[in-house]
Amino acid sequence: MSEFTVDNSLVRLGAPYSQACLPTSVPAPQWIAFNTELAAQLALPKHYWQTDTGLALFSGNNLPDWVQSAAHAYAGHQFGHFVPQLGDGRALLLAEVLDETGQRFDIQLKGAGRTPFSRRGDGRAPLGPVLREYLVSEAMHALGVPTTRALAAVLTGDWLQRDTAEPGAIITRVAKSHIRIGSFQYIAEHGDIEQLKTFADYVINRHYPHCAASNTPYLALLESVVEAQANLIAKWMSLGFIHGVMNTDNMSIAGETIDYGPCAFMDSFNPAQVFSFIDKQGRYAWGNQPRIGSWNLARLTECLLPLVNPEQELAVAEATAVLQKFSTLNETAFLQLMAAKIGLQQATAADEVLIRDYLHLMTENKADFTLAFRLLSQSINDINAGAAQLFGDKQAWQSWAERWQLRLAEQAINATEVQQQMDSTNPAVIARNHQIANAIEQATAQGDLTLFNRLHKALATPFTLAKANADLGLAPNAEQCIANTFC
Ligand code: AMP
Ligand code: MG
Ligand code: MG
Repeated sequence: MSEFTVDNSLVRLGAPYSQACLPTSVPAPQWIAFNTELAAQLALPKHYWQTDTGLALFSGNNLPDWVQSAAHAYAGHQFGHFVPQLGDGRALLLAEVLDETGQRFDIQLKGAGRTPFSRRGDGRAPLGPVLREYLVSEAMHALGVPTTRALAAVLTGDWLQRDTAEPGAIITRVAKSHIRIGSFQYIAEHGDIEQLKTFADYVINRHYPHCAASNTPYLALLESVVEAQANLIAKWMSLGFIHGVMNTDNMSIAGETIDYGPCAFMDSFNPAQVFSFIDKQGRYAWGNQPRIGSWNLARLTECLLPLVNPEQELAVAEATAVLQKFSTLNETAFLQLMAAKIGLQQATAADEVLIRDYLHLMTENKADFTLAFRLLSQSINDINAGAAQLFGDKQAWQSWAERWQLRLAEQAINATEVQQQMDSTNPAVIARNHQIANAIEQATAQGDLTLFNRLHKALATPFTLAKANADLGLAPNAEQCIANTFC
């Protein structure tokens, strides 16, 4: 095993980018979950693996000397409104570690107590959101979506007052970094141009080192983030995933999915679906995510302008040209992903119509997003089988399915190969809301982690589903949707 390597570069950068801060100790920590695979990747020494030493670390009760805990400063647009100071109010960076390939990762506690950025918040996290983030972020990783990961989850032993009293918990997450668009907004708002340049250079060096060699490094940085976000959002869309709170402070510069709040995978397909109960206008609806992604990147662009060119007008023209690449990149990536989902190896312009028509058919028939793709491979040889069962309008289904089969027949590969390709692209099991809600309910009310553990295991191999877990692959029925508020 490689050596455990710590190098706390953000803390070294000092103010105004972060502030030193210690976790607040908790009364009676207990293990909920620990990710041994990720711990091995980070070469985390074994005495932290599900031992009392590990429990003391991941609850914030006793920190080893390689930890230099700090809260990161950031601002952000929340639902379109600028808030000049947000920052890690319930998260705390413990350390940065390098894995054996030299990739740098933040190790961060979430729910470890108040920080200088907590404002009126208690700095704590209830068990429910901790379990949701653990399940969904690990499911995203297994699906091949860039994401923060979950290393550990612990109960704190105290209770938090939310709508009801809920057990307190702490999740330890691992990310390429927790630097967001909002991190740049904070420096642009509160710092000077030298501090902005220092930060941009730091980010280039950390995430996009090739930009340093460019004649226009800050435009190259913008372009790299635009590309990463365009690809990320296309992946979300192709899985029916709704982030839920795409505020600029929740958009990672490294292009990872970050900050799992009221996020969800859709059941019945509806492009206007939202999951956050405060998102009354549908700002962060499934179908709006590319537009919001681009809007968020425009906010990043504004921050970078003084570095792009001292002549404001020139800076705007140059940066806008880069920003405008977002839509094409995102649409191309989405089209390619969707083409693979319906068994096509290369997407043509005509295929875009075929794909849009399938999405329309799904909407009209309220078809389950995941099953509409997963079952489609079974319709290749018989259009009355597989996905057919999801469409009440049989005629509309048939006319689409016939066009699709004709298109498949143009390809040089046989049906079995297409089937295999589709089944390794379209998950059989996703982190469904009603199941997550049931797992949270069981854990909160009875202290029982059976369903959480079962779900976690099934989600680790999303493209295969054991017979014993067949229930986890089903769409919820109407009753389950009513029982769980997020549906
Ligand atoms: P989020 O909605 O998770 O993106 O958080 C927005 C901001 O609110 C961030 O600055 C968080 O750190 C802060 N925040 C959210 N919940 C709490 C809490 N319980 N205590 C302190 N700060 C919080
Ligand atoms: Mg956030
Ligand atoms: Mg959040």
